[in-house]
Amino acid sequence: MDDPRVAVIIEDDQDIRELIGVVLSQSGFEVHAANSGAGGVELVRAKNPAIVTLDLGLPDIDGFEVVRRIRLFSDAYIVMLTGRADEMDTLLGLEAGADDYLTKPFRPRELRARIGAMMRRPRHAGEVLPSGSSAQEGGAAVTPDVQPAATSQPEGAATPGTSSAAPLAVNGLVLNSGNRTAEVDGTELELTRTEFDLLHAIVDSGKQVRTKSDLVRRLRGDEYDVGTYISDADERTIEVHMANLRRKLGDNPREPRWIKTVRGVGYRLVH
Ligand code: CA
Repeated sequence: MDDPRVAVIIEDDQDIRELIGVVLSQSGFEVHAANSGAGGVELVRAKNPAIVTLDLGLPDIDGFEVVRRIRLFSDAYIVMLTGRADEMDTLLGLEAGADDYLTKPFRPRELRARIGAMMRRPRHAGEVLPSGSSAQEGGAAVTPDVQPAATSQPEGAATPGTSSAAPLAVNGLVLNSGNRTAEVDGTELELTRTEFDLLHAIVDSGKQVRTKSDLVRRLRGDEYDVGTYISDADERTIEVHMANLRRKLGDNPREPRWIKTVRGVGYRLVH
């Protein structure tokens, strides 16, 4: 497990490094910093952080390669810092396995908000992300086709009041929000936190469509619900995460076993 109190900054600009360091320290993190890509990868290996901030433009190896190397051994939450004009860089970084991005110049409160949202994202997904939590879903709840996998367990195995944390099973996919694992046909998947949370959001929503902006808000937390503009680029980050997720699931978007694209809207569970 990563250490929830540790953060690593990978950034070659000293001013930005210090600024990020102050924000992370104020957020309660033990902060370590590297000024090169290779040094950053080693620091992540040594310190086992919960969060990594990563500048894409580094003097030795580029940020995309840094993400790929970190992802070989760590599921730390990776926030990339990118230039405002470089949306393609953002998408490539997410494809490589980063979780989120901030464009430079960023405001410290933006970084604080992203970190806060990440830290509130539950270890037990069912606890604070109940289905029907979106403000946009007025009215009647739709009964999902998803059955709790725990029904095969002896009576009384489930603790009353925690049914939302019971494993979800659909078409050979089992999601356990307790230990945040996902299995397909009995084989465990290596999902990042973001991929797990997206998959859980869709499975937990049953037949309801999840819009891309809904998913952005779900990942970024409640304080983004109020008055926060969700940009096209933000929605594209969901598309990239979803493509990565489908690849790991082995789910073909044209003939999906689990995740169906609702064109122009978002995604929903196959039923
Ligand atoms: Ca740089």
